[in-house]
Amino acid sequence: MGFNVAIDGPAGAGKSTIAKLVAKEMNFIYVDTGAMYRAIALYLLRKGVKPDERDRFADECRGADVTIRYEDGIQQVILNGENVSGMIRTEEVGNMASASSVDGAVRAKLLDLQRNLAKENDVVMDGRDIGTNILPNADVKFYLTASAEERANRRFKELTEKGQECDLEKIKADIIERDERDMNREIAPLKQAEDAVLIDSSDMGIDDVLKVMVETINKKRN
Ligand code: C5P
Repeated sequence: MGFNVAIDGPAGAGKSTIAKLVAKEMNFIYVDTGAMYRAIALYLLRKGVKPDERDRFADECRGADVTIRYEDGIQQVILNGENVSGMIRTEEVGNMASASSVDGAVRAKLLDLQRNLAKENDVVMDGRDIGTNILPNADVKFYLTASAEERANRRFKELTEKGQECDLEKIKADIIERDERDMNREIAPLKQAEDAVLIDSSDMGIDDVLKVMVETINKKRN
């Protein structure tokens, strides 16, 4: 069993940014489970499935095979042999991932992949149900959150910097809708694990969050 760090929290809380830095600092691998859900979402979109067609998710996702590999330490998501890492970071794919991840068949597809990675490696894994469902015995668990306002501002900045056209109010509405769906779904809803360390980063910089996490992990390791 590897040393396992789980980071859960709502969309736009900064999980992936922080998780990457923690992984680098600890010399662990970073496992981005949201990217796996996004790859399945891309597959469904390509099949012409719409986010409100819940009845089609289970059947249509059958042919999707998601794996990951690392290139220069960076996770690449492979969908049926194709590296789709550059195609999954759009709001369209994010919204579809949020909609389709409520489905048990979609979630079941990714369970073993995620658990095996954690078994074989020291990992920092981020997502929604890592500390509660995927790795209930993780060595350290964090629940990273921030206000919806702040999360929307951050995502707006990130997308604008990438040159993507976007609207702040629409992003905020999407974030609130995604929170609602992630927290209230029947299977593996987003919630803070009882033994998770809560970090509200609304008024914290990246370095502050990194410091708290690394200190917490080191305490547990030593
Ligand atoms: O984190 P990211 O925005 O890339 O995740 C996309 C969507 O995938 C989330 O909105 C969430 O609904 C879903 N997801 C999930 N469980 C995870 C990771 C992501 O349900 N472990």
